[in-house]
Amino acid sequence: MVTQRTGLSGTPVVPGLALGPVVLARGEVPEAAVSAYVQPATPEAALAAYDDAAATVAAGFEAKAERASGATAEVLVASAGLARDRGLRGAVRKRVNGGDALLDAVHGAAEQFVGTFTAMGGLMAERATDLRDIERRLVARLVGAAEPGVPTPEQPSVLVAEDLAPADTAGLDPAVVLALVTERGGPTSHTAIIARQLGIPCVVGAAGVLDLPDGATLLVDGTTGAVEVDPDPDAARARVAADAEQRAASASWSGPGATIDGTRVKILANVADGPSARSAADAPVEGVGLFRTELCFLNRDVEPSAEEQADIYAEVLGAFSGDGSGDGSGDGERYVVVRTLDAGSDKPVAFATLPGEENPALGVRGLRLSFGNPDLLARQLDGIAEAARRTGTETWVMAPMVATVAEGAEFAEAVRARGLKPGVMVEVPSAALLAHRLLEVVDFLSIGTNDLTQYTMAADRMATTLAHLTDPWQPAVLQLVAITAEAGRQVGKPVGVCGEAAADPLLACVLVGMGITSLSMAPAAVRAVGARLATTSHDACEEAAEAALAAVDPAAAREAVLAVLEQGA
Ligand code: PEP
Ligand code: MG
Repeated sequence: MVTQRTGLSGTPVVPGLALGPVVLARGEVPEAAVSAYVQPATPEAALAAYDDAAATVAAGFEAKAERASGATAEVLVASAGLARDRGLRGAVRKRVNGGDALLDAVHGAAEQFVGTFTAMGGLMAERATDLRDIERRLVARLVGAAEPGVPTPEQPSVLVAEDLAPADTAGLDPAVVLALVTERGGPTSHTAIIARQLGIPCVVGAAGVLDLPDGATLLVDGTTGAVEVDPDPDAARARVAADAEQRAASASWSGPGATIDGTRVKILANVADGPSARSAADAPVEGVGLFRTELCFLNRDVEPSAEEQADIYAEVLGAFSGDGSGDGSGDGERYVVVRTLDAGSDKPVAFATLPGEENPALGVRGLRLSFGNPDLLARQLDGIAEAARRTGTETWVMAPMVATVAEGAEFAEAVRARGLKPGVMVEVPSAALLAHRLLEVVDFLSIGTNDLTQYTMAADRMATTLAHLTDPWQPAVLQLVAITAEAGRQVGKPVGVCGEAAADPLLACVLVGMGITSLSMAPAAVRAVGARLATTSHDACEEAAEAALAAVDPAAAREAVLAVLEQGA
């Protein structure tokens, strides 16, 4: 039976409740300005006009980047680079020289690049939204209109859009933008990334939200994905106040992770490099549950030597060396789980990824790269071992995209030979189904729910139209997590979760109820997850797990789990 729902709903990506009037972000340049545009007289003049517009658009991104920080600044700098891109300019020039009108040439060139990005899939496909935003800004500049984007609301409001580009999200002020709701966009879209950073409740993929009239009042639930239109004002205000109280309480959570009745759960951070590790080390975490090493090499054409890799890894390990309790007792020793290169598919690394694969997500990515190039893995393990030796940090090493027990065994042998603790990620359904056999050959498992969801549901994790399938609350995904956790429980070995699922406070309770021993997440999510667990009993977590596994779909699972946890069983 499929549940029938009334009202709007989407995929929740940042928890929290918000109530406010709709403000619609409109992305189009006024039609009248476009039709009144007079083409430059010659191809040279057209290209000069294009260069002016591109420089102005890029400078606008750069100015915003200077006022921003972190991930927001990075995406704005990337957009500025895209606006100045020589390839894009070359495509415009070719079309103008071939007789196209300038606006048609800009549109044609942008579409050509959107097509290329989309065909590459994964993270590159997400850049299509950025490119379309740049095209609209170029056209606005050329026709002398204001660049499109997000209006500045006069009163605190819920911002509704088709999808938001980095430039739209960068200037958002959480004081006036209470929540974000988009019709498109997935859990890894820019909208989601920036909303998470700003702590604004956010729901993506909410079909029909663009049809709401300006001025309707919305109650947005970033925990369940429900978007209520014109709710009862008193009841809605009371729910928002209770939620705000809970969020304030979570801000003061200081670890370590445990349920209210004392079941310990390690709360860990996901990091990408030295700076992100040093910043994560200040959060109330017991270490790093996922160091994505490939992110250190996205701009490298040549593989760094084992020595150079050791320097890079030591920066991360060094941030977690010694006793994190601060009392010198040794009780709070922190550890770092290093993941070997997960190059390929959505994370192409020039020196490792195989070119021209038909279907990179199902191709030679992650550990599979070492099949034809064993020295690549050997050099990385040497670099990790050297960094561990230098820093004295407890270091675990895991492989991504493991599909068979033999792969796990071979990897474990190579890791143990270097005196480190081996584990594998569970991202492929075959690994979850054989978790008990994998645990005979490795010391720990870490479930990558982002890929496990993608491969279980056969749905590209970046496909904005498939957000309802790429949802870790899908019962089939939860079944595989439960099988994996149970395998760990039976032999007393750690089984963690390091995908986005671990950052969802509600789902975290479900995972702990299944027997998951650690949760690793973006540091911004740590306090909300820790605080939720700290107010929940282990029995309630187990009941929540049963309720989620029995539900027919993600929405029903969230509802059932909320009901269990609100009873405080
Ligand atoms: C995952 O797949 O859940 C995971 C943690 O790995 P990544 O997101 O880097 O693919
Ligand atoms: Mg993965």
